[in-house]
Amino acid sequence: MKIAVLAGDGIGPEVVSQAVRILSLLRPDFVFEHALVGGAAYDDCGLPLPSATLDLCKAADAVLLGAVGGPKYDKIQPPELRPEVGALLPLRSELNLYANVRPAKMLDALKESCPIKLGDRKMDLVVMRELTGGIYFARPRERRDHGNTAVDTCIYQRHEVVRIAHRGFEIAMQRRKDLVSVDKANVLETSRLWREVVTEIAPQYPEVKVSHMLVDNCAMQLVRDPSQFDVILTENMFGDILSDEASMITGSLGLLPSASLSDPKDGKVFGLYEPVHGSAPDIAGQGKANPIATILSAAMLLKYSFDDTINSARIEKAVDKALDAGYRTADIFADGTTLLSTEEMGNAIVNAL
Ligand code: NAD
Repeated sequence: MKIAVLAGDGIGPEVVSQAVRILSLLRPDFVFEHALVGGAAYDDCGLPLPSATLDLCKAADAVLLGAVGGPKYDKIQPPELRPEVGALLPLRSELNLYANVRPAKMLDALKESCPIKLGDRKMDLVVMRELTGGIYFARPRERRDHGNTAVDTCIYQRHEVVRIAHRGFEIAMQRRKDLVSVDKANVLETSRLWREVVTEIAPQYPEVKVSHMLVDNCAMQLVRDPSQFDVILTENMFGDILSDEASMITGSLGLLPSASLSDPKDGKVFGLYEPVHGSAPDIAGQGKANPIATILSAAMLLKYSFDDTINSARIEKAVDKALDAGYRTADIFADGTTLLSTEEMGNAIVNAL
């Protein structure tokens, strides 16, 4: 069982080391192989995604990623060598990681950190975002004519919508069976194709209640009442924005995990697991980062790529237990709780385990 570990930049190595520590406690059969990615790889060899790193990922059973990027790398030319464009996008396309699963769940212990007062309502939703198509991937991706006209192209093929729609319905079947497909069908042709395909596939999942929502309305509804959503199925850029919005409603970016999945093969799902947040250069190297998002990403790795729901649930419970005991990193600290460093939060979760 080989796990490719790509710690990356900024707080990446700090949070990833806590997740690896927990995985190795629970799964002594896992072998962890580390490789450079992002700015760290660029500094080492001039490339954000060296072929050795990509080869390691392809040979692994799953990939655990920290985060990439930072101000030091923002001005690299050409832009294809920047960590986000040169590492994250090719990792997604080369590994065929088209289904991005981002749960956003309000933890009871953190209800007070929620910027929206939910009362007795609970927020527990998943954004299923298409990850390898749309405006971030269409070729030619971008164009600038003499500095005055800029063009980005958004393309979706029917088969790309079909496969992500099935993944969305499958996830809905495992949850509360309520799927909202989000698009901008009143304006965009790609959205009209999206809505057509979702409508065609829906009868194959008769138990799932399906509705369609325009993206601007969805952004508003998430703030008005996030408890109304179970699964939000949407395309790449809308999913990027809505999942960050949903995640912040739960209290902190530092809490939210994600999985990027490929097609199931021989009963196994290859996936890349990473926190939703970035490399947080403002707090890097200070022991302030919250490792929970990455630790919960490790729980998703166990569940989706190894069908190990028992250990996955153990990690989730241990996180709840540490938070219930009042342990907090700086991003979620409040009066009356105990402030911990990144490593101390790792210790608290290990103790809870
Ligand atoms: P960010 O997510 O890195 O940080 C946003 C804010 O949230 C910062 O104030 C940061 O301190 C805080 N934060 C983030 N994670 C935290 C954690 N675990 N614990 C406590 N606080 C946390 O977003 P940004 O500042 O917009 O981007 C910084 C860099 O990360 C940029 O170079 C960006 O391109 C990159 N980035 C990478 C990824 C990725 O690797 N998948 C994703 C997003 C951003």
